[in-house]
Amino acid sequence: MQKILSNNILDTGINHVKNVENYVFGKGSISYLKKIIDQQNKNKKKNLVFFIDIFFKSNGLPNISEIVEGSDLVLYVDSSNEPTTTAIDSYTRYIKNYFKAKPSIIIGIGGGCTMDIAKAVSNLLNNYGDAENYQGWDLLKKPGVFKIGIPTISGTGAESTRTCVMTNTKSGLKLGMNSDYTVFNQIILDPDLTKTVPSDQYFWTGMDAYIHCIESLSGRYRNPVGDSFSKQTIQLCRDIFNSNDMKSDANREKLMIASYLGGCAIATSYVGLIHPLSAALTVKLGIHHCLANCIIMRGIHEFYPSEYNEFWNMVKKQNIKIPKDVCKNLNENQLEDLYDLTIIHEKPLTNALGNNFQEIFTKKKVIEIFKSL
Ligand code: NAD
Ligand code: ZN
Repeated sequence: MQKILSNNILDTGINHVKNVENYVFGKGSISYLKKIIDQQNKNKKKNLVFFIDIFFKSNGLPNISEIVEGSDLVLYVDSSNEPTTTAIDSYTRYIKNYFKAKPSIIIGIGGGCTMDIAKAVSNLLNNYGDAENYQGWDLLKKPGVFKIGIPTISGTGAESTRTCVMTNTKSGLKLGMNSDYTVFNQIILDPDLTKTVPSDQYFWTGMDAYIHCIESLSGRYRNPVGDSFSKQTIQLCRDIFNSNDMKSDANREKLMIASYLGGCAIATSYVGLIHPLSAALTVKLGIHHCLANCIIMRGIHEFYPSEYNEFWNMVKKQNIKIPKDVCKNLNENQLEDLYDLTIIHEKPLTNALGNNFQEIFTKKKVIEIFKSL
């Protein structure tokens, strides 16, 4: 794939693009899961690990109870906390101790948190060492265990990207394992699964797709395929979030496609200013990724003026709550921490502002943005 900018820190060599190997799409398509597992296991019984979002512990999930057998392991993920390196390492150790042989398939059913845990654990089962050893670009040596992703909420694109995001418990750095080996082998996109998502959460997470793509399209590291994915994702988001019922059957289907395409877009490009600021809010204040992005949109008019207007019109149209004044009670030291946690994300900041990004994104400017939220 042709790159428009090279010879700088953005040139990570993502020019031989890896996509998800197989996907099934459509209402009720979770019913294909059994067939896919049987094919992968060649109809022999082998151990499975299911990571399932905690919401489904009490709310049930179609077709799952008939697939899970006694020797399989079902782990419910409490997605009220985003993944950390410590959590990933302890899941991996637990699975290694639980089975005599390695499990044959890892299945992640949930939002970005659950899918990212499934991706990371699959990688670590086949690569020596701890999660933090692989935070960065192209550090994994071997493919992970066969992994299947089944999103139950749409927007992050975790189902289609080559990363799985986690916060390093020691350094506080929020960074993924960016690697071709992180891409799911199989995904199932079943829009029936997103019916139960509460409206605010549906919007916050859905907007991650929009935000990934506005950042990517205004960046310096561009390629024609990524741009096409981004443009289509943004158009789908506009259709959905300017409509009267963002959660209609048709719109949930569209958002699932937007999320997938947005993930494909971001897999070959970079985000911009919103994600580094948002990551700082997550690490410092524990605000979840997608909500943190929406909060950051309050402070970003100078850099993304038309997208700012479009975003806040969609918030109004859908009557969504976005918390205000989240940094109001922070002292100067805490605001400086937020600056430090933002500025470490060199690649997206370079993508947005160029190699001299610190001259534009000064400490004063970044702190001003946090104060304006
Ligand atoms: P999430 O996993 O944080 O879940 C959000 C909430 O939605 C949770 O309360 C969960 O219980 C609930 N939920 C999920 N499905 C539901 C359903 N069908 N019905 C009712 N409730 C449901 O969701 P998210 O916003 O998709 O993921 C955020 C995470 O994704 C962050 O950790 C972020 O860093 C990560 N992320 C990853 C990538 C990637 O490429 N890997 C990209 C962007 C973000
Ligand atoms: Zn995001």
